[in-house]
Amino acid sequence: MRFDTRLVHAGQPPTPGSADLVPPIHVATVYDRFGQPDRRYFYGRGENPTREALEECLAALEEVPYATTFASGQAAAAAVLSLLTPGQTLVCSDDVYGGTHALFDAAARSGVRVTPWDLSLPDAGERLGDAAMVWVESPTNPLLKVTDLAAAARAAHDRGALLVVDNTLAGPALQQPATLGADIVLHSTSKSLAGHLDVIGGALAYHDPDLHARLRDYRTTFGNVPSPFDCHQIHRGLKTLALRVARQCDSARLLAEALQDEPSVSALRYPGLASHPQHRVAERQMRRPGSLLSFVYAGDPEALMRRVRLFAPAVSLGGVRSLIECPALMTHRPVPRPTRLRLGIDDHLIRVSAGIEDPDDLVGDLLAAVRAGGSAAR
Ligand code: PLP
Repeated sequence: MRFDTRLVHAGQPPTPGSADLVPPIHVATVYDRFGQPDRRYFYGRGENPTREALEECLAALEEVPYATTFASGQAAAAAVLSLLTPGQTLVCSDDVYGGTHALFDAAARSGVRVTPWDLSLPDAGERLGDAAMVWVESPTNPLLKVTDLAAAARAAHDRGALLVVDNTLAGPALQQPATLGADIVLHSTSKSLAGHLDVIGGALAYHDPDLHARLRDYRTTFGNVPSPFDCHQIHRGLKTLALRVARQCDSARLLAEALQDEPSVSALRYPGLASHPQHRVAERQMRRPGSLLSFVYAGDPEALMRRVRLFAPAVSLGGVRSLIECPALMTHRPVPRPTRLRLGIDDHLIRVSAGIEDPDDLVGDLLAAVRAGGSAAR
């Protein structure tokens, strides 16, 4: 089955007995296996058929045998960090989602040596030192830096380190990190996978059966499972992933092209533009350059977010509705300002997530809002 077919078919054979064409929501938390110890369902925290249907689909999309879902992307990331022990080194992308920064700080407090690095740089592989785990976000959030994932996998494996790729921004419709050598692919399924801005979830996808046993044990022990209702919602959203992402990528490109010559816009970043520092890498490893763009706006970011009519001033990304945010005020507010500025997250940086609205409406709305602020330099 090709990718778009897997979206609709994987993990959803007609239900035995009723022949439902939609996987049912199994709400039971307990199963009767009295006298039948071989039955695979025991207690809902450990096993649930609705969750497993979603996991089967996610594994098929990332082209790996296993996927494990969690109550949020953060819970999935925490499960990955649980694989590290105090004294081990985690080398990570320096520009990551604000919540991931917070998790890395927590890991550092429990004795993991955390070394942030710009892993999009061509010589990054030489700087992995004694890493036990390499954590790449690509594209990064919010600067949209792109790391060469095949090169990162080679460099990590040369040291015996695991390569973890947060694939939330691109999603499996645009890039499949495990096919490029990643050991663990991480998703906040709250974003493009569910796609409708109405459910929180997370997932990990991977090849290794030992890792599978450890991650399942971790999840059953800590109990951060997604509900069957949320799993159903995510699985339902997945069916239109390819269609939604295609439209979003078309719009993101049009928006980036429209903003290119605006005098109040600088440092415009979109992996599909030839001016993007890793444009060639993005072309090689991503099917399309994605639905996000970011730029520095010379005017007042808050006023810009008030002026747009079609872009909701909100965090999150990848949903059907277009969103706009200022990372310094919103997603990356918890990151100390000096760190933010060192990373290049300017106070006036704006991140846009294209939705599935009419592309011309989106371009017209954003351009009008940008222009209404004039081109005043700060
Ligand atoms: N990873 C990335 C790249 C994200 O953007 C986010 C959330 O915005 C997360 C992880 C965390 O996911 P969640 O909000 O589902 O916990």
